[in-house]
Amino acid sequence: MNVLVINAGSSSLKYRLLNVERQEVLAKGICERVGSQEAFHKHGLDDNERVIDAQMADHDEAMALVLESLTHGPTAAVSSLDEIDAIGHRIVQGGKYFDRSVLIDDDVIAKIDELAELAPLHNGAALMGIRACQKHMPGKPMVAVFDTSFFQTLPPKAYMYPLPYELYEKYAIRKYGAHGTSHRYISERAASFLDEPLEDLKLITCHIGNGCSMSAIDHGVAVDTSMGLTPLDGLMMGTRCGAIDPAIVPFVMEHENLTGAEVNDLMNKKSGLLGISGISNDLRSVREASENGDERAMLAYDMYSNSIKKYIGQYIAVMGGVDAIVLTAGVGENCDKMRRMIFSGLQPLGIKIDLEKNKERGGERLISTDDSEVQIMIIPTDEEYMIARDTFDIVHEKIGVEGGVFVD
Ligand code: AMP
Repeated sequence: MNVLVINAGSSSLKYRLLNVERQEVLAKGICERVGSQEAFHKHGLDDNERVIDAQMADHDEAMALVLESLTHGPTAAVSSLDEIDAIGHRIVQGGKYFDRSVLIDDDVIAKIDELAELAPLHNGAALMGIRACQKHMPGKPMVAVFDTSFFQTLPPKAYMYPLPYELYEKYAIRKYGAHGTSHRYISERAASFLDEPLEDLKLITCHIGNGCSMSAIDHGVAVDTSMGLTPLDGLMMGTRCGAIDPAIVPFVMEHENLTGAEVNDLMNKKSGLLGISGISNDLRSVREASENGDERAMLAYDMYSNSIKKYIGQYIAVMGGVDAIVLTAGVGENCDKMRRMIFSGLQPLGIKIDLEKNKERGGERLISTDDSEVQIMIIPTDEEYMIARDTFDIVHEKIGVEGGVFVD
């Protein structure tokens, strides 16, 4: 089955066409700065990526360009839209409604719309992606895969905030988490790599890149996660501050004469590695500056690793132990120096990193010493594959597919 995975952002439309049975990526690309004069469409696999279009007024036009590039000319991956069997959409906020991926119908669309209040940029964009697909590929089965659904298993003691209870009742203010598709994927792959049932393991999963989140997964069930009502909470990130003393918010508003929206912007876009280093949100640049003696870059680097270390401690306490710590995303997969800093000093907890293995590159691998009680693993994440697989499973279950033809 060929599944088109769509990840629509407020001004972007990322896509990947996969054959699920063969686990093969047939095509991928991204439309960026949609709706602006600088819009462009990049298409192609790995080193072959190149800009093939410009000018798209909205997501609808972007989708038309994507479908054209998938089916026509030198970029074609399939001969017609008939060869795309289903579409999987990444949706950031599923709120309390969705604890799993679902087939998209009018009711699902209405709920995604209702939840846009909790994720205005993201859910609104996802709806534009869904509507564009409905227009250009009417009747094609579509599945919604939510970033939050993996965390619907959190117990109330983990998802509630100690605020007046009415705020939860009135506005559903609670922890929803994010990056759930990535945490679900790497926890499943980690169990498979260790050749043990997920249900027998206590895992701490770390998605650390520009956005960062960690989860405690106890016997296959997510019991805590670091992102909150929004993806601003938890760890220090590239441009996001993560958890800070909430009293800082009114203080800064008053003293810097900022509105709520402005301070929100400051915490989301001007903080984290960028805010502390004053150099970049990109860890590679911060690392380089710190190695050249820049003190603020060194501080940013130290704070980023310390923030992760503290959550490891928290989640060991939450689960009463841990069997494996799993790292993924740009920093987790690639930065040996950051990994060394995160795990330094954790030997008393039975966590020992092997410094030689840590320097090696590759795919799924162990970087703990042979005598480490806790395994440390790297699992490259693949959210698109997970979305395609959910789409495949749901379309099979709900609709049925025979030889590429859907039957009721
Ligand atoms: P992501 O959000 O998963 O794409 O991750 C982006 C982050 O990963 C950026 O901060 C990059 O600097 C960082 N990153 C990617 N490759 C490396 C590398 N080889 N060494 C250090 N950081 C890296």
